[in-house]
Parts: sequence; C-alpha cells; structure tokens
Amino acid sequence: MPEGDTVWNTARVLHRALAGARLTGSDFRVPQLATTDLTGWTVRESASRGKHLLLRLAALDGTHWTLHSHLRMEGAWRAYAPGERWTARPAHLIRVVLRSPGAVAVGYHLHELALAPTAEEESLVGQLGPDLLGADWDPAEAVRRLAAHPDATIGEALLDQRNLAGIGNLYKCEVLFLRGISPWTPVRAVPDLAGTVTLAQRLLAANRGRWTQSTTGSLHRGQTSYVYGRRAQPCRRCGTAIRKEELGDRVTYWCPVCQPERTPRGDGG
Ligand SMILES: [Zn+2]
Repeated sequence: MPEGDTVWNTARVLHRALAGARLTGSDFRVPQLATTDLTGWTVRESASRGKHLLLRLAALDGTHWTLHSHLRMEGAWRAYAPGERWTARPAHLIRVVLRSPGAVAVGYHLHELALAPTAEEESLVGQLGPDLLGADWDPAEAVRRLAAHPDATIGEALLDQRNLAGIGNLYKCEVLFLRGISPWTPVRAVPDLAGTVTLAQRLLAANRGRWTQSTTGSLHRGQTSYVYGRRAQPCRRCGTAIRKEELGDRVTYWCPVCQPERTPRGDGG
C-alpha cells in the first residue's frame, strides 16, 4: 500500500538508480507527455513529499524541471538493470520509461504524471500539509491544521493530506488503535492531538528502508498490523472481533472495546 513510507522508499530507489545520470532515452505513454523527449537530460535527484514523487531534472539548456507522479493505490516505480526483463507489472500498465547508461526506471500505473519547472513545484504539491518524513517535518503545524477543522472525524482528518502528508489508510487505522481513539471521534474531542501526530510520524519512520509495513514490530505475515485488514479477527489486546466499516470514502478498521466512542455518532455536537 503506497503510503508515505513506501513513496519515500521509492524515491530512494530512483535516486540510487538515476541521480547524476544523463538520460539516454525516455518513453512517455500518457497523452499529455506523449511528445516529450528527455534524452540528454540529467537527473539531479529524486525526492518524496507526502505521497508525491518528485524527480528533479536538468534540461539540455540547464533549466530545472520536475517530473511529478503520484502512486495512489496501485502505482509503482521500478529500477531495472539495462537488459533486465521488466517483470514487476504487466506492460500495458507502463506510463513512462527512463533509460540511463546504468539503469532503466519504469513507472507503472502512475497518476498525475506531469513535467513542470522546478521553480513551480509548489503548484504541484504546495497544498500539502507538513510531510511526516520530510526534513522540514513540523508537528506543531500539523496539529494546528488538524485543529482548524474541529468537527471533522479524526479518521478522515488524518487522511486529508492538506493537514499532514504521508498517512494512508493503514497508518490511520493503526495509530488510532494504538491511541485508543475511535475513528469517528471529532477532532475537537481527541485528547492529545500532538501525541497522535507524533506516533503517526514514528510509525512511518520505522518502516523507512523496507517494503514490509509493520506497526506491531513483527514482520511475520499476518502479524504486521493490529486492526488494519483484520476484520472479524480477535483484537490482539482484548480479543474482541475487529470491525470494518465505511468512514467517508474509505473503509476503516477498529476495535470497539479498545477504541470506545467518546461522542455518540451523528449527534452534531
Ligand atoms: Zn481491543
């Protein structure tokens, strides 16, 4: 599941494969970039911002450009050795191929693929809240943005990338379980927003550098989460069956005993 840590890992893979390299060819398979040719361009660096990937390039004339992509649910980038078979995903999902002397980067099922001047990068990602895995991570600003919408449910507020960037459904469910907070709790009724934000950051940071996402400390299959993906299975703490229900436009998992509702649902106040 591409959450902030997965995108951070992907950015690192692309950086190691391409940074400093001069591209020997490019092949865009999306209409908006079909005529774009990056041959001769140099890859400066690869970075992530929340769940957005930013591949920073220098054009032949020395101007700086950013190739933006978003993985959403199913997108992925892979780096292959020259001549290696591209086996990660079916070929029809390929959206872009970037070739360099040492590596070939293939982007599958990418969303929001766009090329913009690096100076205008903020127009692509400027609406994002503080990046949990960014060098400029600002927990106080994240709390301030969350608190600005006191009546939103905490379950939806944590997923809103304008509040803080990088949390997806897995970390949302897990952090709320670990804090004993029902996903339906209004933001104003969450007892310690700063503690919740800090824990979310720690969970994402702990999964940097590996592809298996775990919030329990275990990397064994079936033991990597407390509630996420565990509908009807016993809570690891109290044994109650984990529940799954829609919240906003996503599903949420929670333990009704460990995460009691402080404010009745739908009471409006
Ligand atoms: Zn429980």
